[in-house]
Amino acid sequence: MTFEELGFIEPINKALKDMGYVEPTDIQHQAIPLVLQRKDVLGCAQTGTGKTAAFALPIIQMIHQKEIATKRRTTLRALIVTPTRELALQIDENIEAYSKYMPLKHAVIFGGVKKPAQIRALKGGVHILTATPGRLLDLMSEGYISLDDIKLFVLDEADRMLDMGFIRDIEKILKALPKKKQSLFFSATMPPNIVKLSQQILYKPIKVEAARVSSAAETVRQYVYFTNRTSKKALLQHIIKESELSQVLLFARTKHGADRICRDLKKVGMKAMAIHGNKSQPQRQKALKSFKDGKTPILVATDIASRGIDIDDLSYVINYDIPNEPETYVHRIGRTGRAGKKGRAISICEPEENQYVKDIERLMGKSITRIDDHPYPQTDKPMTAAEKKEWNKEKQLRKQQYFESRRKSRGRRPARSK
Ligand code: AMP
Repeated sequence: MTFEELGFIEPINKALKDMGYVEPTDIQHQAIPLVLQRKDVLGCAQTGTGKTAAFALPIIQMIHQKEIATKRRTTLRALIVTPTRELALQIDENIEAYSKYMPLKHAVIFGGVKKPAQIRALKGGVHILTATPGRLLDLMSEGYISLDDIKLFVLDEADRMLDMGFIRDIEKILKALPKKKQSLFFSATMPPNIVKLSQQILYKPIKVEAARVSSAAETVRQYVYFTNRTSKKALLQHIIKESELSQVLLFARTKHGADRICRDLKKVGMKAMAIHGNKSQPQRQKALKSFKDGKTPILVATDIASRGIDIDDLSYVINYDIPNEPETYVHRIGRTGRAGKKGRAISICEPEENQYVKDIERLMGKSITRIDDHPYPQTDKPMTAAEKKEWNKEKQLRKQQYFESRRKSRGRRPARSK
């Protein structure tokens, strides 16, 4: 079964090809036809199964074909509510990638950051909004968002939503939504309180269930090095040098992070190339070819970019940061140790990520071998909530200063001749 066979239009198929998607995943295969038939869907699926595309792709197609959008004004037609800022960003990034050949407008809003940029995005007109509950209600009460014209509502990760205490918020959102709409409800687990919530939302739903994300391939040997945030760079270089690693797929959380790691490796004479969303298709292909041919031993990738990478015989996966979604870890390390071959996954963990390692071990039901014998042991403690808040504030400030200085230096550049 291909995406074309699921009935997607050319701009979507083209975008999927760019992302390296070949076949729909199990949940996509089951859910997409139902969503396109305008049915309510109750999806039992965890992160990592491809559930985002299962709801995002048909929504994009229906908006593009004006099935759930008007011809004239850009109105908010689809609302996706998800519990965390990371998930919200990830969903919106996916929507951006899937709709890159279409004039579709989308935005993402979440708490913990200032509102003006989000308000500006909303004022520009949006077809699809991805939101965390608190900020959504906040901006609704301030009059920046109306849910009156919503035709399609997605509640993502419903079980986590309840675990995080969002039930009141969800009830408020439900009240503000129009009665007549299509609803999609996704949850990794279906305990009675979730079933009850789903009954409140869905009309004659059809249940689909994705195969669970498999536990890490048995053939992958997994190691974790605990260190301090400031020692990560040195430790990475030490690990690569010491073990003379090559054929390393290294994961970074952000595009800038991937570029920085690459630069730092190059500074100490190690060959590395980065692939991520800001790189053009030819740049990505060049990096991939050089990696496959063995000319570049280290490929640094973000999670999204790595999806299109299919490399036989990949020897090592290095997690330069530990993903906060344990399923992402399982996906990352699944890139090595394929077809019964030996693979190794090495994770470099700073104090803030200690908890993520525990979550991963819980999901896999086994522990990761800890390497203590290295020159950069972890001596710092994880930050307290207050320290974290302070640190985030500083980070935000540094980011603003960075963008400000870039804006200023752009302003100084002489105008380009046409
Ligand atoms: P999700 O469960 O939606 O978070 O998706 C997990 C990962 O799988 C994401 O990085 C997606 O980009 C990727 N993905 C989703 N569908 C496909 C597909 N059909 N083929 C390859 N990768 C996919």
